Amino acid sequence: MEAGYGPSTLAVSLNDMALGTPSTRTDRAVTIRELLSSGERSYSFEFAAPKTDKGERILWDAIRRIEAVQPTFVSVTYGAGGSSREGTVRATDRIVSDTTLTPCAHLTAVNHSVAELRNIIGQYADAGIRNMLAVRGDPPGDPMGEWVPHPQGLRYAAELVALIKESGDFCVGVAAFTEMHPRSVDLESDTRYFVEKCRAGADFAITQMFFNAEDYLRLRDRAAKAGCETPIIPEIMPVTNVRQIERFSQLGNAPFPPALAERILAVQDDPAAVRAIGVEFATEMCRTLMDEDIPGLHFITLNHSTASLEIYENLGLHRRS
Ligand code: FAD
Repeated sequence: MEAGYGPSTLAVSLNDMALGTPSTRTDRAVTIRELLSSGERSYSFEFAAPKTDKGERILWDAIRRIEAVQPTFVSVTYGAGGSSREGTVRATDRIVSDTTLTPCAHLTAVNHSVAELRNIIGQYADAGIRNMLAVRGDPPGDPMGEWVPHPQGLRYAAELVALIKESGDFCVGVAAFTEMHPRSVDLESDTRYFVEKCRAGADFAITQMFFNAEDYLRLRDRAAKAGCETPIIPEIMPVTNVRQIERFSQLGNAPFPPALAERILAVQDDPAAVRAIGVEFATEMCRTLMDEDIPGLHFITLNHSTASLEIYENLGLHRRS
């Protein structure tokens, strides 16, 4: 266990907690906001909240492998309820206390009163967490079901951003959607509400996964045209099995490229070949994005770090540290 990161040494850890190895910590930025404003790119990995003891062990295997490449930050998604929510808070706290990694804690407004949200924000602060991702969340069970706010809760992510900002000196990220959020009526209102959310105090945004670099660039242009300069980090998720084609097509509005689906379906009986195509496609998309002025890359791991680490290495990013 790393010494000096527990709540009792909070003042020290907030100053010294940095985005790098113990020896380089103090000359690195403390928050994602500071890193991005220094012009550096952010490279991060996202894990899912564990629901079981076995899930927790798998998560920690993945976290340790990712720790070896010293990314800018890692994040843990906030579950739909119960044990997975506790798992998010526990895993994020442990990342501070037991690793050299910088965590970004996800938080949603689903089924929480404002008082409960303040309490969780307080727990994160006590653990020394400075970076948070504020998302509204989806109704548990059916992501496209009716969104019913908690009677003493919040309606939109913009309000969660404002609540976190008024609770302390946090660096806050928000969600962005390359093809607009599935609930949005049109691109114009989607962009307007995204910009409102940024103006509520967001320091950066992370997109939902997508498969066409052009879609990301169009989102960035729309936001810039609306006067929004919040850095938008593209989220990368490689396809590693055939079932994901259908799942990804149902998620959000980002279309799954027919040519990629065709290539994958042609080798569907060979899992290694499917995975290789997914990794190669994601690597090429990252290369296209890196030729543009992007603020970084955010990799979804689904707690199995190997595919995203392979892309990271293909891009030569493992040599950064
Ligand atoms: P909002 O920004 O509140 O937007 C929701 C909808 O309301 C949009 O259509 C928007 O245009 C509209 N809207 C916004 N403001 C207004 C307004 N004032 N009036 C009318 N309409 C408005 N989910 C989880 O449960 N846990 C996670 O950890 C998690 N992490 C995520 C990480 C990333 C990077 C992304 C992209 C998504 C993540 N999600 C997570 C999913 C997210 O919670 C859902 O996509 C959710 O449906 C939208 O969240 P949001 O923060 O974009 O909502």
